[in-house]
Amino acid sequence: MTVQTSEPAPAELVDAGARLAGAGLSPGSSGNLSIRSGDRVVITATGADMGALDAASLSVLDLDGNLLSGPRPSKEYPLHRAFYRRSPETRAIVHLHSPKATAYACTDPWSDVTALPPITPYFVMRVGRTPLVPYADPGDVGQADLIEAMPGRFRAALLQNHGLVAAGPDMIAAVDTAVELEEACGIMLAAGSRRLRPLDDETARRLAEAYSSPWPRT
Ligand code: ZN
Repeated sequence: MTVQTSEPAPAELVDAGARLAGAGLSPGSSGNLSIRSGDRVVITATGADMGALDAASLSVLDLDGNLLSGPRPSKEYPLHRAFYRRSPETRAIVHLHSPKATAYACTDPWSDVTALPPITPYFVMRVGRTPLVPYADPGDVGQADLIEAMPGRFRAALLQNHGLVAAGPDMIAAVDTAVELEEACGIMLAAGSRRLRPLDDETARRLAEAYSSPWPRT
């Protein structure tokens, strides 16, 4: 595994936090961000204000959760570790209590394998399969272990009655996935109880394949 000699992580985290908070996706300065660099994870500190992150006040952990430097990390670190352990290609995680995703996470999932149907092309292309993870208190290690062991590919999940998680090969990709998921949840909420007409299976699979996006066979 390559350990990078330069550390772009702090600036990437600060920029992503400002973008997400500016978009109203960090109510009450909630949420946390991390980047993996080699065998280390740089993560926002507990209680950090996402809209005003300090590059000098980030926590650095190893993949076992041991604090190597910086302040006490977000207690939701196990969630991040679960996604890093699922895929060596995952280098960035965004976790938000954003309004629409959190509201939608309080409703029943579309199916056992994905909380949302293929509601728009961009949801399928940029997010894809998004399982609903059963409720646990924030920071619960058992929930993280469950996510780590979940079968099948996914780059995002909804945490029941809690919020969203999005993973990516870099922070910009993870943020883009989180923003697209937030929008898709808003569309689902806006549709309300009207009879839903998602994309058909063939279209969803074709888009997912063209964009290497995870989408379950139904
Ligand atoms: Zn949370």
